[in-house]
Amino acid sequence: MIRSRRAFVRNSLIAASVPNLWSANAIIPNFSEEKAPENAINPWIELSEAAYLKNAKVISSMANGKPVLAVLKNNAYGLGDVEVARILDKSPQIAGIALVKDKRALALRKAGVSKPILLMGDFDDALWKDLVKSDITLAVHSDESLQKIQKLIRKKRTPVLIAMYVDTGLGRMGMPYHRAVKWAKAIAAEPKLRVTSTFSTLTTPIDFANVQIARFNELTAQLNKEGVQVGKRHLAPSSSMLELPDAHMDMVRPGILLHGSFPMGGTDVAEKYHLLPTFRLKARVIRVEKLRAGDTIGFSRFYTAKTDQWIATIPIGWADGYDSRSENGAKVLIGNKLYRVVNVNASHCNLLLGQDKEVTVGEVATLIGPDRPEITPEGFAQLIKGHNYLQIHYKESIPKYVQGSFH
Ligand SMILES: *Cc1c(COP(=O)(O)O)cnc(C)c1O
Repeated sequence: MIRSRRAFVRNSLIAASVPNLWSANAIIPNFSEEKAPENAINPWIELSEAAYLKNAKVISSMANGKPVLAVLKNNAYGLGDVEVARILDKSPQIAGIALVKDKRALALRKAGVSKPILLMGDFDDALWKDLVKSDITLAVHSDESLQKIQKLIRKKRTPVLIAMYVDTGLGRMGMPYHRAVKWAKAIAAEPKLRVTSTFSTLTTPIDFANVQIARFNELTAQLNKEGVQVGKRHLAPSSSMLELPDAHMDMVRPGILLHGSFPMGGTDVAEKYHLLPTFRLKARVIRVEKLRAGDTIGFSRFYTAKTDQWIATIPIGWADGYDSRSENGAKVLIGNKLYRVVNVNASHCNLLLGQDKEVTVGEVATLIGPDRPEITPEGFAQLIKGHNYLQIHYKESIPKYVQGSFH
């Protein structure tokens, strides 16, 4: 009952920007001890509130106690931006939440998130009023984006929160640092713009990141000298945060570390830092069958049974965001045993059980989780020869259940 009401509320939140849903906050129950329904079949994600709060603390201590601006773009890397933001809203180390899409910034506010929210991407003019009313900090990132905001503030009486997005060499977004002084002065000259932060993004090669840090320091020093407010300064995504203390500035800006996962490397990196895995990806076994020697699985007849053997089917596939390269050797935990993935289609995958029928329909399969090294995000990335980031783009429709902690 509670669940369906929440699902209804959440779906309406996602549907559109509806100002009268401010009141929705009052009827969203506290879901910090929510469990997947006993009979859930299709994939679901469990999140550990304790792990997120602990990670926020650890990340801040890695940066000598600097506050953390949590990057929850791309639906918090598939794990649920609203759910993760509502957890991090309780963390004293989290200074704010940054994301890239205008509608998601609004969805977070409407779900009751109260920390500052920075929209690092651009926005649809039609959402301007809602964004401003919701106290979303807007990134000014070019001459054109300044002109657009200058036009929109003409009719405003109260100040609008903005951040100055500077390009120090990533070349993707932001005002090029060598043209930024005049632009920043024009921003400072607008009484209705309140600059809360100035930021840029570092590239991964350390030599060049150091060049970017110098460019950023020089620019902000010059602006300070000229009396231009720059607010909090931030530069560092996870990898730079780990490697370059000089990049910590006034706050650090990690994404992947919050989920207890790492931007690079495998389990060796994970052992060095005491971050906790924050999620489990699960689904239930829906079919167990015996293949005869010579039988195959998959449209391309990807897997051929060499002997008679049992296989299980799990209702998750690449369309759900489960990496299709899993069929090259990923493992899945059922009970206390790992089974090899031998086929991934859009909505299903198959596991090899072996000579015996060791698994029955209805058992829960853990595809990613902290329970075994092979199924942690790092262990999984190694087995599929993939990238730590690319595996976590689970479909938004996968339900999320927030638990107090993983036991
Ligand atoms: C994605 C992103 C981050 C966070 O990156 P991680 O590697 O996940 O820590 C930080 N800043 C910007 C501008 C980003 O786009």
